[in-house]
Amino acid sequence: MRLVLLGPPGAGKGTQSARLVEKLGIPQLSTGDMLRAAVAAGTPIGLKAKAIMDAGQLVPDAVVIGIIDQRIDAPDCANGFILDGFPRTVAQAEALRELLARKGIGLDAVVELVVDDTKLVERIEARSRDFGGRRPVRADDNPESFKTRLDAYRQQTAPVSAHYAQKGELKQVDGMLPIDDVTAAIDKTLGH
Ligand code: AMP
Repeated sequence: MRLVLLGPPGAGKGTQSARLVEKLGIPQLSTGDMLRAAVAAGTPIGLKAKAIMDAGQLVPDAVVIGIIDQRIDAPDCANGFILDGFPRTVAQAEALRELLARKGIGLDAVVELVVDDTKLVERIEARSRDFGGRRPVRADDNPESFKTRLDAYRQQTAPVSAHYAQKGELKQVDGMLPIDDVTAAIDKTLGH
């Protein structure tokens, strides 16, 4: 199963991806995680991406497309994968289609977690209050960067859902439901 999970920051993509990994036995490919690993390792990509990520903006398309193109060739992706946080622009969605076609494969499903923007801001504000002065786990998990991430989502990533919807490939799930209900809705959508 080759799956794309779409949804704004804070929608629960990470949580739902982890459950799908368990159930389907395929890896989660999170461009955010891969970029954070590159930052931590101090690779040339990491050095370039750090400031952009900390500000909550999107790193250049070519960088993430290159990362995904390579990662999909790894043996653990032979039976499929869950893309989490990619594609984030229409250009990335088009590049993904092309690179998969080049490899002789395609997507099986595109699932979007639909959530209310106001609720997301409330959630992230509550999350940063919970840090209680401790250093946040992620440098971009603060209200200012979160707002930029949400703006980037609205401007650059929301059109990605429209792109897949236009092709009749988009399946939407209510991401405001309790976590287990969202999982059940995704399972139903995927026919499990
Ligand atoms: P995430 O963990 O998915 O929220 O991603 C964290 C940050 O990594 C984002 O705010 C972006 O700066 C960067 N990033 C992750 N995935 C992408 C992508 N597909 N395109 C551009 N930037 C990305």
